[in-house]
Amino acid sequence: MQQAGTPDNEEQRLAALQSLGILDTENEARFDDLVAIAAAVCGVPMGAVTLVDAERQWFKARLGLQASEAPREFAFCGHAILQQGVLVVPDALQDERFRDNPLVTGKDGIRFYAAAPLFGPEGMAVGALCVMDRVPRHLAVYQLQALEALSRQVSAQFELRRVTAELQLQLAERGWYEERLRSLNAELALRNAALDEQVRTDPLTRLANRRALGAALARALSGGGRWCLALLDIDHFKAINDTHGHVVGDEVLVAVATALAGAAGDGVLSRYGGEEFAWLFEGTLEAAQACCERMRAAVASMPQARRVTVSAGLAAVQPGDRPADVLARADRALYAAKRGGRDRLEIA
Ligand code: GH3
Ligand code: MG
Ligand code: MG
Repeated sequence: MQQAGTPDNEEQRLAALQSLGILDTENEARFDDLVAIAAAVCGVPMGAVTLVDAERQWFKARLGLQASEAPREFAFCGHAILQQGVLVVPDALQDERFRDNPLVTGKDGIRFYAAAPLFGPEGMAVGALCVMDRVPRHLAVYQLQALEALSRQVSAQFELRRVTAELQLQLAERGWYEERLRSLNAELALRNAALDEQVRTDPLTRLANRRALGAALARALSGGGRWCLALLDIDHFKAINDTHGHVVGDEVLVAVATALAGAAGDGVLSRYGGEEFAWLFEGTLEAAQACCERMRAAVASMPQARRVTVSAGLAAVQPGDRPADVLARADRALYAAKRGGRDRLEIA
């Protein structure tokens, strides 16, 4: 028996075979069909799509054969991949290369064999489409041509299969990236929302801060409608800090903020400065005045060990006002409330 030689480009050939991703995969009808047609055209009971791996030949499709693979040293196909055209062995017992091959000498051994090489990427011969019989045979020219034509179809199916798998992988990867992008965007939107909230919120009282009030006031002035602005300042707050310390001072600030917020109604209440609050309200001056009185009373009636009060200055927005104008009027009214005795509301 003469073993087939190893092709010069064996390494690249095996790489091409691996890149097909076909070894040890399930049966596929497209290959079974082509083997059945090849056997039928040649009038033989056996056929196979065989792939020549490093140490074995493995059958992607087989007809009339039991085993799914065989050692490469016995493989007829090892010879088929060494040549371009169809390899025909009319009678293996008469052929030096195969006469003592166990596949030939065994029970029901192979006598006739014909194979056309199959090509993978870079034109590498990766296997063969073969037909076999247990009796000697000759093929007519049309049968040889059909075998070659069918082998081209098998090679084309290899390529189709490879490209399809590659595309599926790319699609899956793309899906993965899209999903990742979606979740990153969602995360970013959440972070932005949290940051936005942080930028607009006073961390101690959780009220809107000066920046948020400024934006709301600018919107109110540019949109028209009746608006009022009040500034409310804690009375003698410095004394609370001086007497009880900053921690208690902070607790009082939070308590005042909570009391004001509870009475503020629809308006935007903000911590405008240290112990000063601003309140922006859409409505008449009368309605704003009533609400400011409720806020002042809410602070004055807080159940604190030490009585805490606020003074407030209220101003109605005039046509053509800029934010600074209405803020200045409210501040003057607040100053008047302080001078007038504190724990009171003055209207600009
Ligand atoms: P008035 O009735 O005239 O408003 O007197 P006041 O003592 O409230 O006013 P003043 O402006 O003299 O003092 C305000 C104090 O508020 C001074 C400052 O240390 C204190 N303050 C400002 N921000 C905070 C804060 O976040 N926490 C605490 N504990 N104190 C603060
Ligand atoms: Mg004060
Ligand atoms: Mg103040």
